[in-house]
Amino acid sequence: MTSNPNSILLTGGAGYIGSHTYVALVEAGYNPVILDDFSNSHPAVLARLERITGRPVVCERRDVADTAFVQAMLQRHAVAAVVHFAGFKSVGESVAQPLKYYRNNVGGMVSLLQAMDAANCRTLVFSSSATVYGDPASVPITEDFPTSHTNPYGHTKLVCEDMLAALRTANPAWQVGVLRYFNPVGAHPSGLIGEDPSGIPNNLMPYVAQVAVGRRPCLNVYGNDYATPDGTGVRDYIHVQDLAQGHVAASQALLDDGEGGDSFTVNLGTGKGHSVLDVVRAFEQASGRPVPYQIMPRRQGDVAQCYADPALAQRLLGWRATHSLADMCADAWRWQSQNPEGYE
Ligand code: NAD
Ligand code: UDP
Repeated sequence: MTSNPNSILLTGGAGYIGSHTYVALVEAGYNPVILDDFSNSHPAVLARLERITGRPVVCERRDVADTAFVQAMLQRHAVAAVVHFAGFKSVGESVAQPLKYYRNNVGGMVSLLQAMDAANCRTLVFSSSATVYGDPASVPITEDFPTSHTNPYGHTKLVCEDMLAALRTANPAWQVGVLRYFNPVGAHPSGLIGEDPSGIPNNLMPYVAQVAVGRRPCLNVYGNDYATPDGTGVRDYIHVQDLAQGHVAASQALLDDGEGGDSFTVNLGTGKGHSVLDVVRAFEQASGRPVPYQIMPRRQGDVAQCYADPALAQRLLGWRATHSLADMCADAWRWQSQNPEGYE
């Protein structure tokens, strides 16, 4: 069966990055279909996607590890490429429950790749992470920096990257785009979709947003004695809309190349580092609300600075981030203030 070059499967497409990528793919003329078990997302996102795009969403509620189901879904929709977001992403939880992470992130990927192989669909975009650089010796980080891991979550990303490399060696028909995300933040400018963490947010931006909206009293700033301009940790925050466009560019590059074309591993970041206090100030500006904070000890496992050299993605994919930290905070605030309890 020949595939439809516009048909793209998004595993985990109901999640934070997947939902924004869904919209970007529709706007670029693709027909994305979603597979998600809603283990870390809310079905209400689907109606929001329909409001934004003005067309019905095709979504199957299923575990990506159901090989036979995924194979049948790939064939039913004549899928040409898969963007694989489905997985768990909490570093702390991965330390406490490593097998849950290996099973879903590594086991889920094995199953997906088997289903794709059986369906003759061998084009994949994979959600990796800057966590694969461990504690980088210097910044900005280029893709040829050594990789390492400091927790099971990071290890699952490295294992998946290695698995994809082995697969390509075994069968060069596989075309793989590995995207190493830096720190995705922000929301769709409509305020209809955004990041909706369950429980207490681990990440900085959603925590700051919940302080600004009054859901939490105060931000804990983890350390102000790092070797950075103001002593707080520095990260490469990237607007989720830019990240979504990165997936469109990656899918396009792989699909245009055809079977056995070039695979790539690229950083998706802005190339700029911002400190925790930069984020606090930018959020106060965007929201007009105070964000009280207190300095706490360093968080275990945190690195001082992490930001990308994004030149390779620009060269290979013609992609670069265009949104500023002020844009990220304005859109995160619109989402948070319009949906103080998330999708509930
Ligand atoms: P998310 O949790 O919002 O989205 C993941 C989606 O996958 C959720 O909708 C969840 O229900 C679904 N899912 C999980 N396991 C599944 C399974 N077995 N079968 C079907 N669906 C399943 O996370 P996100 O922030 O959108 O991240 C997407 C991907 O990007 C993840 O692989 C994550 O590790 C990676 N990533 C995220 C970040 C970040 O900071 N958000 C950074 C780097 C990499
Ligand atoms: N951070 C913080 N308070 C929080 C959450 C995060 O001070 O409640 C800091 C953290 O120490 C790091 C930065 O914010 O320097 C980004 O943390 P996040 O967890 O969002 O991303 P990651 O550390 O995974 O890059």
